[in-house]
Amino acid sequence: MVSRDIMRSTARGFKKYYSPDIKGELRLDTNTNVLGANPAAVKFIREQKIDLNDYPRTYSDGLRCALASLYGLEMDNFVAGSGSDEMLDVLFKTFTEWGNDCLVPYPSYSLYDYFAQMNGGKVLYSELTDDFQLDVDDIISSRAKIVILASPNNPTGNSFRQKDIEEVLAGFGGIVVADEAYGEYSENSMIPFVNEFDNMVVIRTFSKAYAMAALRVGYAVANKDLAEMMNAVKIPYSLNSLSEGAAIAAVKDQDFIKRSVAMVRTERPKLSSGLSKLGFDPFPSDSNFILARSPIDHAALTDALKKKGVLVRDFGSKRRMENCVRFTVGTETMNNELLSKISDILEDFS
Ligand SMILES: *Cc1c(COP(=O)(O)O)cnc(C)c1O
Repeated sequence: MVSRDIMRSTARGFKKYYSPDIKGELRLDTNTNVLGANPAAVKFIREQKIDLNDYPRTYSDGLRCALASLYGLEMDNFVAGSGSDEMLDVLFKTFTEWGNDCLVPYPSYSLYDYFAQMNGGKVLYSELTDDFQLDVDDIISSRAKIVILASPNNPTGNSFRQKDIEEVLAGFGGIVVADEAYGEYSENSMIPFVNEFDNMVVIRTFSKAYAMAALRVGYAVANKDLAEMMNAVKIPYSLNSLSEGAAIAAVKDQDFIKRSVAMVRTERPKLSSGLSKLGFDPFPSDSNFILARSPIDHAALTDALKKKGVLVRDFGSKRRMENCVRFTVGTETMNNELLSKISDILEDFS
C-alpha cells in the first residue's frame, strides 16, 4: 500500500464523502426536492442545441444576468460555478491565507471542515445555544478569518435570527458567509442586503429546492468588489454550458419553486406531528427536512428503515445530536409511508 505521506500534509487525514449504496430506496436522506427533477431544466436539456465544440462563457454571464433580474441586483453582484461547494472553495482561495482558521457553528454542515483543512486552515467551533441559535458574542470574539453560517442550518433545520447575523456582520473581523442552501424554504435571506456589507458573501445552490443536483450549479452573491475578487480566483469555465442553460431556464420559471415550497410548508408540520405521536422529539425547521430525536436506537432505526426501502440520515452518534435522525420532508404519500414503516419498526422493538 502506498503511504499517505505522499499526500499534501493538510489532506492526509481525509476520507471520502458519504456515498451510500443505492438500490431504488425512497431517498429521504439528501434533502433534494421530492417532487423530482426541475421541469424547466429537463425541457431545456431535451431541446438544447449547444455546440459542444464551444467553450462556455467564462463567467456564466447568462446565468448571472438571470439571477440579477430575479433578485433586483446586478450581474456583477454574482459568481457562478459548479455547486455551492465550488463557491466554498473559491471563498477560501480568495480570502484566507494558508493557516488561517475558519469558524463554524456546531452542529452544522460537515463539508466546511474539508475546505478549511484543504486550504491549510483549521476549523474552530462556536457552540450553538440550546435552541440551536448563534452565540453572537462567542463568534465576534473569535480571531478566525472567515465564519460560515448555514441558515437555515443543516442538519438542525432552523434559521438563525436575522438580527444575530447582522450583529455578527458588524462585530466579526473577517468574512461572514451565509450559506443559504435551503434559503428558498425560509422567510428570510441576506441576499437583499449584500450591498450594505463589506464583509458578507451569500451562497446558494441549484441542488436542493431547484431540483438539479446532478447538474452541479451554485452561486455566490456579494457586493461587486467582493464578487469581482472571487471571479478573478475561480477556475474559468467551471460551470459547463449545459448546466448553465438549464439553470437559466429554471430561474426564469419560478412556478416549480413556488409549488415545491408550498408543498413543504403544508407537509412539514404534518410530518413533525406524526413523528411526535410516534415518540420522537422533532426540532423546529425552516427547511425541507426535520431533525428529530428517536425513541429507539438511531442506528437500529436507520438500518430497519433501509431494509424497508427508505433512506434517512443518521446523526445519532454526533455530540448534541445524540440519537437524532434527519428526515427530508416528502410528499404526503411519502411521509405517510415513512410514518407507517417507523410505526411497524417501533412495534417490533416493543
Ligand atoms: C446540500 C448543501 C449544500 C449544497 O452543495 P452543492 O455543492 O451546491 O450541491 C451546501 N450547503 C449546505 C448546508 C447543504 O446542505
